[in-house]
Amino acid sequence: MEENTQIQDMYDLLGISPEVRELGEQTEHRLKERFDGFDRTAEYNQLKVIHAMQENRVSEGCFQYASGYGYNDQGRDTLEEVYASVFHTEAALVRPQITCGTHALYLALSANLRPGDELLSPVGKPYDTLEEVIGIRPSRGSLAEYGVSYRQVELLEDGYFDYPAIEQALHEKTKMVTIQRSKGYQTRPSYSVEKIGELIAFIKERRPDVICMVDNCYGEFVERIEPGDVGADLVVGSLIKNPGGGLAPIGGYIAGKRELIENCACRLTSPGLGREVGASLGVMQSFYQGLFLAPDVVCGALKGAVFAANIYERLGYQVIPDGRESRHDIIQAVTLGSPEGVIAFCKGIQAAAPVDSYVTPEPWAMPGYDSDVIMAAGAFVQGSSIELSADGPIKPPYAVYFQGGLTWHHAKLGILESLQSLIDAGVVGIEKVRALIRSS
Ligand SMILES: *Cc1c(COP(=O)(O)O)cnc(C)c1O
Repeated sequence: MEENTQIQDMYDLLGISPEVRELGEQTEHRLKERFDGFDRTAEYNQLKVIHAMQENRVSEGCFQYASGYGYNDQGRDTLEEVYASVFHTEAALVRPQITCGTHALYLALSANLRPGDELLSPVGKPYDTLEEVIGIRPSRGSLAEYGVSYRQVELLEDGYFDYPAIEQALHEKTKMVTIQRSKGYQTRPSYSVEKIGELIAFIKERRPDVICMVDNCYGEFVERIEPGDVGADLVVGSLIKNPGGGLAPIGGYIAGKRELIENCACRLTSPGLGREVGASLGVMQSFYQGLFLAPDVVCGALKGAVFAANIYERLGYQVIPDGRESRHDIIQAVTLGSPEGVIAFCKGIQAAAPVDSYVTPEPWAMPGYDSDVIMAAGAFVQGSSIELSADGPIKPPYAVYFQGGLTWHHAKLGILESLQSLIDAGVVGIEKVRALIRSS
């Protein structure tokens, strides 16, 4: 009891009312089994990462600063072996010179497609930033400008794959297929690795030569298997999301077949130089340590996502995924139904941050979006979305997308602050919270 009072005192200090905290406690209590499941997956993935580090003889020397050309950069080369082991692929390219997830995806595509080839997305529209990469929206330097054509197969009503249409869309020009694991800002489901495996098997049965790439952003370590375990030829992601564990200050990775990875290296640096150059400039310790922490960080983010889903579901809001669904990425959408709701939610997330908590986020016209967008992020690494963050376009249905949290307790505080902020703004009535507490 004494201990509980101490914790409540801290929540008081942070502006969380006893009612909001009580609703949180009840919700957490109900989620015990779910949380145990996430812990078991994290345990498995933690062992997988440690085994990969041991197997590849990671040593203190791997953290040394390398500059200039970066020939024989031991830390870099060993880390790439570690990634290949973790993702069960032949090879990997993991570099600070890969600036973000979009860059990693562009690299994987542009390195392995040639003029006259066609790229197919069998899972509908790809992530927004890929529209310019591919040239769906005309853009300087797009794949379209280099004579690479593109085709996409829309998803069925239920958000899954239209196999007959995919079969038809595969033709002799098809060289590569891109499959996005996470739903991004769409309302379709995020796909389990198993489902992705079924899709890859279907494609490979018809066209064994087609390269299957998976955009793995936000999916790493959510499950015990990764796309490389189910036949993906290339697995691509960002280090300022899951696998960077919150410590990587920049970077992207591509894991996959050796030949295809060599193509990526030659495209990233230069033909003839490939993976031999590209100094790691002192970021290696954060890459290794981030990967080491990533399974646990992802586990905390998943707890936060499910906690938010359950709290907001109880309050009567639509949440995707819902409170009980299995998880395939760390993103949680909550439809608040009004601009005031979206703004108050984001203000709460910001107020809970360790960095820039005193800043008030406001909606603004961001490049590439067709409405104002509000973003909450008080991150150690700018724009890092494995850290607790939320954003929402100010347009119907007025949904916020919430993700991350380097620790479960921070994610919990962020969600409680978001609710407190909704109450303080008069969007949610305190009576409603009291009634929910009484009813359970
Ligand atoms: C974040 C993300 C990207 C792009 O990554 P950036 O680092 O933002 O460039 C691509 N695909 C998906 C599914 C993502 O979530």
